[in-house]
Amino acid sequence: MAKNVSLSTLQKVSGHFKTVMEHRREVRRCCFACGLYYQGLTHDLSKYSVQEFSESVKYFQGWRSPYDAERELYGYAPGWLHHKGRNRHHWEYWYDMQKGAYRPIKMPYRYLVESCCDRIAASKVYLKEKYTPASPLEYFLSRPARNYMHPETAAGIEEILRDVAENGEEAAFARIREKLKKQPGHR
Ligand SMILES: [Zn+2]
Repeated sequence: MAKNVSLSTLQKVSGHFKTVMEHRREVRRCCFACGLYYQGLTHDLSKYSVQEFSESVKYFQGWRSPYDAERELYGYAPGWLHHKGRNRHHWEYWYDMQKGAYRPIKMPYRYLVESCCDRIAASKVYLKEKYTPASPLEYFLSRPARNYMHPETAAGIEEILRDVAENGEEAAFARIREKLKKQPGHR
């Protein structure tokens, strides 16, 4: 969708709905391939909550995240705060006071995997035909976010995305499946 076009409410509702649906479909495919069925089915369901859905429709533009648009206007986006506080596949969820300081907590492996599926799906939707298996890794390495994660979380995400970039999804997902089988309590 082009910049600077004014959209009707109906166009915004259907545009946002379609974006969420396409994103969830691709995340589900990746999660299933990794053996994460429950997470694949429930990924980002909070986007359908009143708080997140109505706000995303209000700031929907079609060429970037509604949260970016809202952040530009008000400095923060309540819908995003709602989202990251409820979705364990976001490293931002894993922060808390420890020994007197606000610090990152190491993400459990199954959520770290879901986060990689999220990154792969988002890169595909964003880059379309320009997407290559190296795109999610390039994005990850080009942003400062990894400096704020738990170091083992950052290393774990990099390892998976590098595997996808160098050996392809199929081989990387097969390795993840094996690793997840050895993790306690995974669904
Ligand atoms: Zn999410």
